[in-house]
Amino acid sequence: MKDESRLIFVSRDHRTVKEVKISRWKIFTYLTVFLVVFLIIGKIGLDMIIDWSLNSEMKRLARTNLVLQNRLVEMSKKIKILNEQIEKIASTDDQLRTVLGLPKLNEDIRKVGIGGSDYNYEFLDQVSGFEAKVDLSEQLKKINQIEREVKLEIESYQSLLNTFYKKQDSVKYLPALRPVLKGVISSGFGLRYHPIYKVMRHHEGVDISAPRGTPVYASADGVVRFAGINGGYGKMIMLDHNYGFETRYGHLNKIVVRRGQRIKRGEKIGEVGNTGLSTAPHLHYEVLYKGRNLDPALYFFNDQILNRKIVSLAN
Ligand SMILES: [Zn+2]
Repeated sequence: MKDESRLIFVSRDHRTVKEVKISRWKIFTYLTVFLVVFLIIGKIGLDMIIDWSLNSEMKRLARTNLVLQNRLVEMSKKIKILNEQIEKIASTDDQLRTVLGLPKLNEDIRKVGIGGSDYNYEFLDQVSGFEAKVDLSEQLKKINQIEREVKLEIESYQSLLNTFYKKQDSVKYLPALRPVLKGVISSGFGLRYHPIYKVMRHHEGVDISAPRGTPVYASADGVVRFAGINGGYGKMIMLDHNYGFETRYGHLNKIVVRRGQRIKRGEKIGEVGNTGLSTAPHLHYEVLYKGRNLDPALYFFNDQILNRKIVSLAN
């Protein structure tokens, strides 16, 4: 045959020779079969390797997924706790506002402050396999709400603190101390028969009768605006107390402060006397609010013990 080939095997010692006859067609067939088998086995092996690695990746992802789910469940519990705590903060806020005489943050402000989501978390549908209680978009919305509520409360507490300081501060400037501890109120505020002019006149303050030299104390914190002789007032001191309050002390025997000096409530500023239009030693004491005379007796306490305490603390 034309396409016949011979394979000759010779042993090492050249003693034996083997001859095999084989057709080229057969060689081609064998090679083809071998190649096909080799490819099939290779493919199966490769598939197995790929399957195995995909499988382990899947398992890894499944484990990760489970961990994430558990964390998200924990997070949603924490969000709930945070929400409850913020509600408590808000109710304390309301209480503080009541105490400080401020209006409560009304529901509308709270809603404006915490509602109106800026973001749209609409990717829930793309996340499958999660339980309903780990609704991601709901969680993010709640976190967003908490953030706004916390911001609102921070601002609110800041303004509460400011109001507190302001009120605490303004109390110091109220003319709450009786400027002469002992002594009798010999003439009150309002219309009266003037002892010198002998006519009915409006009395712009109160007169407290006391011996010459009795100490006169500042009724509130303030600054000396005037200290000197002022016509019918005789030796007079005028204090400016901020927030629109002003006090005047007339007919003094002695002035122990000077203009511009800062004064604390209860600090001695002078002594009772009989200077100016006065018939006997007494203190003429006025309280003004925004330039208008008010009845001083409405502002000071008559409690001797309290007044003495204030004075002893200031001097
Ligand atoms: Zn008077």
